[in-house]
Amino acid sequence: MIRMADVRKHYPGGVTALADVSLTVGAGELVGVVGPSGSGKSTMLHLLGALDRPSAGSVHIDGYDVAALPDRALSALRARTVGFVFQQFHLAAGVSALDNVADGLLYAGVRRRERRRRAARALERVGLDHRAHHRPHEMSGGERQRVAIARAVVADPPLLLADEPTGNLDTAAGTVVMDLLRGLHAAGTTVVVITHDRDIAAALPRRVYLRDGRLVAS
Ligand code: ADP
Repeated sequence: MIRMADVRKHYPGGVTALADVSLTVGAGELVGVVGPSGSGKSTMLHLLGALDRPSAGSVHIDGYDVAALPDRALSALRARTVGFVFQQFHLAAGVSALDNVADGLLYAGVRRRERRRRAARALERVGLDHRAHHRPHEMSGGERQRVAIARAVVADPPLLLADEPTGNLDTAAGTVVMDLLRGLHAAGTTVVVITHDRDIAAALPRRVYLRDGRLVAS
């Protein structure tokens, strides 16, 4: 699903955020990317999600060479292949859970009625069908993150990238979210979870460690 080879990422100002990173993630894996703040985790997620291109080296996602794709093709690859979950949920305020999830299909060329039908199904998958008409401010943090997960998977992407998905949640809500991610993995989705939480990482079947932009042994 993912193949990074000798990847470097530089930012303006002489920052090297990633150096010599090579990583292969097979279809159906559940992997944790672990490292302290500033170690390059978000940069890695941006590359894995085709949100950005490497400065050097290659990133293949679902067989496509990210560096070789023009912007439109990159967006299409992202829409088709990747679901994102963020620490801050990134739900639209004042919009119902159902419509927030349905918006995950905006770029999939699906009509509104069908978008809402599939959104209702995705909310069922995360156990929130009874909250479909609630807006984000009427829900707990854990519920908001479950809505965000429903939105991320509503288009059935083969790859799910989660950036500190439990970072804003208490332990109980975090456990529910991690159980959902494990369930998606069990159903066949490739899942990459970025975390600085060693307990969460310890419960994942595979972990890779980043330090100062480099992959290191645990
Ligand atoms: P993490 O997610 O592990 O906290 P990041 O990938 O956000 O790490 O950052 C890695 C390094 O790259 C840090 O030194 C950070 O300051 C730097 N960095 C991240 N994004 C940018 C950017 N857009 N411009 C310049 N430097 C950046």
